Amino acid sequence: MVPAPPTIVHLDADAFFVSCELARRPELRGRACAVGGRERGIIASASYEARSAGVYTPMPTARALRVCPGLILIPPTPGLYGEVSSRMFDLCGELTPWVERSSIDEGYLDLRGNALADEAAVTAVVRRLQGRLWSELSLPVSFGVAANKLVAQVASKLRKPRGFVVVSPCGEAAFLAPLPLGRLPGIGAKTEARLAEQHGLRLIGELQNLSEAALEAAFGAGWREVQAAARGQDDRPVVTEAGDAQSYSLQETFAADVRDRAQLLRVLKGMIDELLPKVRRDGKRARTLTVRVRFPDFTEGMRSRTLPEATDLEAPFYPLLEPLLAAAGAGSRPVRLAGVRLSGLAQGGGQLELFGADEARRRRLARVRDQLNAARGAGALRHGHQLANPADDA
Ligand SMILES: [Mg+2]
Repeated sequence: MVPAPPTIVHLDADAFFVSCELARRPELRGRACAVGGRERGIIASASYEARSAGVYTPMPTARALRVCPGLILIPPTPGLYGEVSSRMFDLCGELTPWVERSSIDEGYLDLRGNALADEAAVTAVVRRLQGRLWSELSLPVSFGVAANKLVAQVASKLRKPRGFVVVSPCGEAAFLAPLPLGRLPGIGAKTEARLAEQHGLRLIGELQNLSEAALEAAFGAGWREVQAAARGQDDRPVVTEAGDAQSYSLQETFAADVRDRAQLLRVLKGMIDELLPKVRRDGKRARTLTVRVRFPDFTEGMRSRTLPEATDLEAPFYPLLEPLLAAAGAGSRPVRLAGVRLSGLAQGGGQLELFGADEARRRRLARVRDQLNAARGAGALRHGHQLANPADDA
C-alpha cells in the first residue's frame, strides 16, 4: 500500500515586514536593512544581512545602529503589511479553502481535499505556491510539509529563508530527533538553557524515550504533551477561522451547458443571495468565497478569495465572482456545473468599518429583506440582478 502523502503545510514569510518593503524597493535587496522606528524605536523586522551583522528583533533601534553602522532603517508603512498578508493568503486560498492564518505572516494549509496522489504531487503544488509568492508578490516564504501542524511548523523554520522541507509520514520522530530542544514550539531560549544545565537535555530525540519520572522532573505536570510533541505527534486540525470549520455552499448542475457569462454570473449571484440570509440567521460572518465550476469534459476548476474582513452582507462578495470564474478557467468555456462556498466563518454580525459608511444602512436593508422574505416565503423580495433577465432564471 502506498502511504498517504503529508497534507499539512505550514508557511512562514521570511523577514516579513522587511520583505514587504523590499518588494517595493528592490534596489535595497542584499543590503543590511530593517523596519523600525527611529526615535527611541525598536527593530520590528531585520533582513538576513542585518541579522548576520548582529541585528535581531526586538532590539532598540539605537543599539541596532551601533552594532550595524551601515544599517538602512526603513520606517514602517501603515497598511502595507496587512495588504501583502491578504494577498499571500489569497494565493494560498486558490490552492485550498482550508487556510488557517495564525499570524500576519504565518499560517497552515490542509491539502487533504486536493486528492493529491503522493508526496511528489504534494511537493509540486506547494513548490508552485512558493514560486508564485516569490514571482507575483516578491515575497520569500518558507514552507514545511508534514502529516501534522507541529511537524510542519518545525520543518518550515528549519531552512529559512525560502526553505522547503517535507517530512514523510512516519518519519516525524526521526526528523525531530537530531534537532536542538529550542526547535520545539513552546521551548524558548530560557527553558532550553535550563534543560541543558539542570537535566543535561539538549536534543529533541533525548526526550522521545526518556522515563516518565525524568520527563516529569524536567517538565512538571505537562510532560505528556512535551513527550508527544518530541515524538512528532499532533492531531490539531487546520481551522479556517475562530475554531469554526463550517461553510455554506450551493451548487447547480445545468440542464444544458451554460455558455453565456452574464447568465452564469447571475446564477452565482443568486447563490450568494440565497446563502447570506442563512449566514445572518446563524449570527455568523463569512470571509472566503470559493467558486467551483465543472466543464463538459468533467474537468473542474476551483478558486477562492478572501475578503480583508468577514462580512454577513452579499455586496462585498459580488465583485469577486467574475475574477474567480476567470481564475477557475471558466473565462469563455461552457460550464456544466457551478457552485459557490462561503467559508472562513466568524461569529457575530460585527461592525465592519472597512466597507465604509453605508455599511449600517446596507445591513438594515438586509435585515428588513430577510424579515420580509421570512414573512412572505423566500424570494418575495429579490435583488436587482435577479430581475435582470427573468427568462434566464428559469
Ligand atoms: Mg515569518
